[in-house]
Amino acid sequence: MAKIIDGKGIADKIYEELKEEVGTLKDKPGLAVILVGDDPASIVYVRNKERACKRLGLNYKLLRFPQSIDRDELISNIRALNKDERVNGIIVQMPLPKHLDPFDIVSNIDPLKDVDGLHPDNLGMLLSGKPRIIPCTPFGIIELLKRENIDIKGKNAVIVGRSNLVGKPLFHLLLSLDATVTVCHSKTSDLKGETHRADILVCAVGVPRLITADMVKEGAIVIDVGINRVDDKLVGDVDFEEVKNIAGAITPVPGGVGPMTVAMLMKNVITAYRLQKGEV
Ligand code: NAD
Repeated sequence: MAKIIDGKGIADKIYEELKEEVGTLKDKPGLAVILVGDDPASIVYVRNKERACKRLGLNYKLLRFPQSIDRDELISNIRALNKDERVNGIIVQMPLPKHLDPFDIVSNIDPLKDVDGLHPDNLGMLLSGKPRIIPCTPFGIIELLKRENIDIKGKNAVIVGRSNLVGKPLFHLLLSLDATVTVCHSKTSDLKGETHRADILVCAVGVPRLITADMVKEGAIVIDVGINRVDDKLVGDVDFEEVKNIAGAITPVPGGVGPMTVAMLMKNVITAYRLQKGEV
């Protein structure tokens, strides 16, 4: 039976460490969140970020706009936040309505305030092996692996999902830690053949129970990023009940990668504060 990786417990430990760090700073770092429209999942995610800021005593500001907001108005609000000295981190909650291009919008955030790590400057630095602000979910996955003392060097890591948010940045992080990394996606011809070779298997797709026990090598480390609502319950992309009998360790949903993502966002706000003060 696999070890269940306690993402929430590890995130709690990170909050303790961050709280101590915040106590040593001259001012309170601040996060501004932009929410466009009223997607219920986004509202929950934004609330979790507000709660995390409160827990650490960080300033928090929410800017809500209607679904119909046009590009120029949204960007002028982002530019005002770029100039606001009390705001050290800015995030635009995804998904955005169809008429707004996420790449265009995120590119207008000051890269030193881009605490989601999705500005092309920050992604470029990651690709160059000089990470500055790292996207929160992949950052949280690496932190989980490190704190669980899981060897990465020389291992076969297989990522299912190639999004800019998760799969692509995680590819670079695992590669920089000397894993041999394979990225699978919706057009991969033999998904089971690929996942079965994985010592470390990460699934970030958004399809409930896509990964079944026959796709997992015995003893593999399985990291489930997926968040899917099925019959009013949250489930991941991995068939947890089956796969836990095969894997060496596995993250649950909820309580695995999710809490780590928010904790790493808080870490990024503090890093952004220090970058703006010229401390790092
Ligand atoms: P996305 O929709 O941008 O990307 C999904 C990826 O899955 C694509 O690269 C696609 O090629 C691939 N894919 C789709 N169907 C597939 C299939 N049948 N086989 C193999 N690959 C397939 O999604 P995303 O933003 O990366 O999010 C993925 C999932 O992770 C979602 O459930 C999302 O809610 C969740 N998520 C969780 C957290 C967290 O903190 N836990 C953070 C971000 C995303």
